[in-house]
Amino acid sequence: MQSTSYLRRDLPPQLSVRYRQDLLIDGTRLPALSGRYFETRNPATEEVIAEVAEGDAADIDRAVKSARAALEGEWGQMRAADRGTLLLKFADAIRNAQDELVELESLDSGKPVSAIRRQDLPAVLDTLRYYAGFADKINGQVIPSRPDALTYTVREPLGVVGAIIPWNFPLMIGMWKIAPALACGCTVVLKPAELTSLTALRLGELAIEAGIPAGVLNVVTGFGRTAGQALVDHPDVDKVTFTGSPAVGRQILRGAAGNLKRVTLELGGKSANIVFPDADLDAAVKAASSGIFFNAGQVCSAGSRILVHEDVYTEFVGKLAARARAIRIGDPTEAGTAMGPLVSATQMKRVLDYIDIGRTEGAAVVAGGGRHGSTGCFVAATVLANVKPDMRVAQEEIFGPVATVIAFRTEEEALSIANGTAYSLAAGVWSADISRVHRFARRLKAGTVWVNTYGPTDVRLPWGGARDSGFGREHGDAAIDNFTESKVVWIQTGL
Ligand code: NAD
Repeated sequence: MQSTSYLRRDLPPQLSVRYRQDLLIDGTRLPALSGRYFETRNPATEEVIAEVAEGDAADIDRAVKSARAALEGEWGQMRAADRGTLLLKFADAIRNAQDELVELESLDSGKPVSAIRRQDLPAVLDTLRYYAGFADKINGQVIPSRPDALTYTVREPLGVVGAIIPWNFPLMIGMWKIAPALACGCTVVLKPAELTSLTALRLGELAIEAGIPAGVLNVVTGFGRTAGQALVDHPDVDKVTFTGSPAVGRQILRGAAGNLKRVTLELGGKSANIVFPDADLDAAVKAASSGIFFNAGQVCSAGSRILVHEDVYTEFVGKLAARARAIRIGDPTEAGTAMGPLVSATQMKRVLDYIDIGRTEGAAVVAGGGRHGSTGCFVAATVLANVKPDMRVAQEEIFGPVATVIAFRTEEEALSIANGTAYSLAAGVWSADISRVHRFARRLKAGTVWVNTYGPTDVRLPWGGARDSGFGREHGDAAIDNFTESKVVWIQTGL
C-alpha cells in the first residue's frame, strides 16, 4: 500500500502523514501519470504539510476503468448481505483509525479536533452503518399489471459513480456519497477538493484494509478544472454526485449532458434564521451563534442571515456580539479551540473583502471585523448589524464567520426577506406560536426548516435544496434512488 514517502520533521511524531500522497487506483497508491504533485498547506500555520499527486484526465480514465472492472467483477457478483458486512467492516476500520483521521482532517482543513471528534467522525460512522443496513433491503416490487403475465421490478446499481466533494467537510460529505453508492452496489471514483485531499485518500486505503475489493473505491486527487472536469466528461461514468458551489454545479450540468449522466447537485446557501419576540431569546442567540460560527461559517446551511423582530433587535444583537467575542479562536489541534482558521489564504481574503463590502454598504460591525492574529488564515467571528436585505452581504454566500443581522416588523416582511435570495437550502424559525411555526414551515423556500433549533442534520432525513442550492436529495432512502436504476421484467405466462 505504501508509496515512496517520507515524514516532515515539523509534524507531530505520532502522525504518519506521508509527504508524498499518491492517488488510489485499483487498490494501489500510484503517482499521477504526469508525475506532477501540488502542495497542500495547514491553514493554521500556512506551512506545507504534504505534496499531493496531481491527477488529470489520464488518471481519471484509469480510475474509471478500474471502477468498471470492479462493477463487472467480484463486487457486482457479491451477495448484497456480504456487501453490507463489508461496509460494516469499513466502519470498524474507520473507528480504529479515528485518532489519525481526526488529526489529519484538522491539519489539512483547519477544523478544530474537538468538532471533528464530536460531529464529523460520528456522522461518518453513522452514515456508513446506516447504509450498510440498506445493502440487502433494496427491494423490487411485483406489480400486477396483466392476468397473463408476471411483471416485477428489480433495482440495479446505477454503475460507475463520480463523486466530487468540497473542502468544508471532507470526511463527512465524502461518506454521504460513498456509503449509499457502495450499499447499492455501485463503484466510485472520488475526487476530493484540492485543498483537502488527505483524509479521502486515507478513507480509500481503509476500505481496502476492510476487505472491499480493489477498484470499488478509487480516489483521484487533483484540480477541479482538470481531474474534476474529466470525471464529469467521462463517457463511462453513469452518475455524478456533486457538492460544491453553484458556479461549478452549472459547469457540471453542461459536462454531464455528453452521455446524459444522472446528476445530483448539493450547492450553496444563504439561509435565514428568523427570530420572533416570543422566542426563548437566549436559546435563539446561542443557536444563531453556532449556526453561523460553527466550522468558521464554512457550512452550506450556515444561518448567515439572522432576521430579528425589531422589538428584540437591539437586545439580540448585543447578546450575539458578546457571544461572538467570547469564541475561542486558535490552534485547531488544541482540544479547547472552538473556531479554527478558514481553509486557505484565498478564502480568508475573500471573507475579509466581504466584511469591507458590508462596511461600505453601511452595515455596522459590532463584533470582529478583521483578521484574527497575523499567522494563519484566521478571521474573527464577525457580526454585521443594520444590514438591509438587498445588500451584497445579505444576498451572496460569504462562506466565513460573518453573521448579517436584519430587522423586520411583520410576518409577511420576514417571509419575503427570508425567501428573497437565489438560494433555497435551509431556514430556521424561533417562536412559541405553534400556528405561526406551521405557517412558516409551509411558506419558507427551503429543503429543511428548523424550528426552535438551528443546524442539526441526520442521515435518515433527506437533505438538499432547490434553485441555486441545487437539486436532488441525499440521505435517507432518497439516496438509494440516486444510485439505483429500476428494471421491469415481464414474463408472459399465459392465462
Ligand atoms: P467548488 O465548487 O469550488 O469545488 C467543489 C469541488 O468541485 C472541488 O472538488 C473542486 O475541485 C471541484 N471542481 C471545481 N471545478 C470543477 C469542474 N469544472 N468540474 C468538476 N469539478 C470541479 O466548491 P468549494 O469552494 O470546494 O466548496 C464551497 C461550496 O460548496 C459552497 O458554495 C458551499 O455552500 C457548497 N456546499 C454545499 C453543501 C450542501 O450540502 N448543499 C455542503 C457543503 C458545501
